[in-house]
Amino acid sequence: MRDNIKNNLHQIQQAIQQAEKQFHRLSNSVQLLAVSKAHSSAFIREAWQCGQKAFGENYVQEAVIKIEALHDLPIEWHFIGPIQKNKTRKIAEYFSWVHSIDNVIIAQRLNDQCPPHLPPLNVCIQVNISHESTKSGVLLQDVSALMENIRVMPRLRLRGLMVIPEPSLDFDQQRKAFHAIKNLLDQINQIHGLFLDTLSMGMSDDYIAAIAEGATIIRLGTAIFGSR
Ligand SMILES: *Cc1c(COP(=O)(O)O)cnc(C)c1O
Repeated sequence: MRDNIKNNLHQIQQAIQQAEKQFHRLSNSVQLLAVSKAHSSAFIREAWQCGQKAFGENYVQEAVIKIEALHDLPIEWHFIGPIQKNKTRKIAEYFSWVHSIDNVIIAQRLNDQCPPHLPPLNVCIQVNISHESTKSGVLLQDVSALMENIRVMPRLRLRGLMVIPEPSLDFDQQRKAFHAIKNLLDQINQIHGLFLDTLSMGMSDDYIAAIAEGATIIRLGTAIFGSR
């Protein structure tokens, strides 16, 4: 057992609890997703033995190898990376969550390819708030339309929004970006009469700010496993 994974998880869980208190969040309202890209299945197994139940992966080929190696553990697998069209079948077969939906064609393929013996796939729309054409994600003004399309897909269960803001070391700046996404989710729920419950936001360097602004899933890699 590598002490540092165990210690890191313990420290992060304490930081989450403290932030929940400090920012008036309900206790246990923030779920920790362990981002295991570039780390071995042995590390994932160690983290599991320390009580970590949900893991996030970015690359389909890499993920499938690890998922098969760890099939004896009932891990909840989340896909959080960019999605190529020819990888949707594997994603629908191997994962129970997809955080990075940013167009209707990918959503339709995931819906059509979600195996009938599995529950519907939990999905989030990835929002692009930095307006860089290179970044994945849907622009704010296009989120509502994509959401309307996904809502009627029977094999997808729309859960909320995901964002990767521009990195910033300034806490208030970090909060601003997350605040915009929280507002967007509130607006969408109000306008469409929905109860979307998921805000997937916050990574190793900005997760406290994300918790302050309402994150329900934080995605941490480096803080748990060390540098990649
Ligand atoms: C790699 C990655 C993370 C984790 O980043 P860290 O800075 O290592 O915590 C979270 N979310 C996404 C989408 C990622 O690709």
